[in-house]
Amino acid sequence: MEEKLREYAHLIVSVGLNLQKGQTLILSSPVECAPFARLCASAAYDLGAGEVVLNWTDDYITRERFLRAQDAAFETPRPWRRAFFTDYANEGAAYLRIDAEDPETLLGVSPARLVAAQRTSSAERETFDRLQMANGFPWCVAGAPIAAWARKVFPDRSEGDAVAALWDAVLKTVRVTGDGNAEARWREHIALLTARKEKLNALRFKSLHYTNSLGTDLTIELPDDHLWAAGNSETPAGVGFVANLPTEEIFTAPLKTGVNGTVCAALPLVNNGSIIEDIRFTVREGRIVEARASRGEDVLNAAIAVDDGARYFGEVALVPYDSPIRSSGLLFYNTLYDENASCHLAFGEAYPECIVGGERMTREELNAHGLNHSLTHVDFMVGTADLSITGTTHDGRELPVFRSGNFAL
Ligand code: ZN
Ligand code: ZN
Repeated sequence: MEEKLREYAHLIVSVGLNLQKGQTLILSSPVECAPFARLCASAAYDLGAGEVVLNWTDDYITRERFLRAQDAAFETPRPWRRAFFTDYANEGAAYLRIDAEDPETLLGVSPARLVAAQRTSSAERETFDRLQMANGFPWCVAGAPIAAWARKVFPDRSEGDAVAALWDAVLKTVRVTGDGNAEARWREHIALLTARKEKLNALRFKSLHYTNSLGTDLTIELPDDHLWAAGNSETPAGVGFVANLPTEEIFTAPLKTGVNGTVCAALPLVNNGSIIEDIRFTVREGRIVEARASRGEDVLNAAIAVDDGARYFGEVALVPYDSPIRSSGLLFYNTLYDENASCHLAFGEAYPECIVGGERMTREELNAHGLNHSLTHVDFMVGTADLSITGTTHDGRELPVFRSGNFAL
């Protein structure tokens, strides 16, 4: 196990972040993941990190704060927090977030408080978020199990067994076996995603039409100059990095006002520390005009009310139903994993890299190209075993993109 964890930590720093000699690493981690965070820090220094700067988080204290702090705590942007994120982002530091959360850590917190906190944190992280969305610095999100999360994924097992089983599952998703070849397997995997992306870029679809038996019947227009992206991105200096470990998707941006119909979620969504089930959106000219859920509907409605752009879509991602993560049969209750088990969409901000030259465009130019802008970005899963996606080209040809949940191109 020790060997596998070392290999995983090295993979994160080398493939995920592609950390350069002398570069600063901001390492954000739950305190419960300290042993794994230490391995990541050591792996970073092994590659010549200039400095590893820690940013600890804690589910328990976060929940206490959301339940018991005064309103002012959620409404006042702090200059020191702004400086922390802005300074390192402008410097081009690498940013690693070790993702581990009790899926219901904020259950019962008032949705209004969640929205206030999100707006305040977005104000503090304005520069950071903008540069992150435009790949202005290398960043990576990777998971490490904690007890509360593992118990949710494996409710019938003892805590120790559940954590061990979740580690096992997490390491499989990132292709780490302990044989020292994970990095090579990743290069191969990225090449496969790149080939898929290039096929779609050559076709340059005008629109995609989604249907399945859940009731999804949705048409998504794509911007004329859209680009599909795979899991590997590049900083302005040309340093390649992989922002999500795992990643199985290729993705682009929808035309903000070109989405119409109904879309139903295929898997539960964990958002803002609550579980939302059976999402059903009705969308007209890009705008979500109705949002229903069998559980967590108030949290969902708060999530799309963060700002006007939160009611519009920002991402269209294709993931085959036979992806290794879906094949595991597990529901991870964590979007990093579940979005890579399923075709997904996101409401909120679009990635500038999804149109030609987007990373060098101003906000106004991105708007003019039809890219949505919001301080939020929430992925939700729509891929089922019977999902069909048909693409229409600019000269009116209809081609199968997905049939029975898998790539048909
Ligand atoms: Zn995605
Ligand atoms: Zn996304």
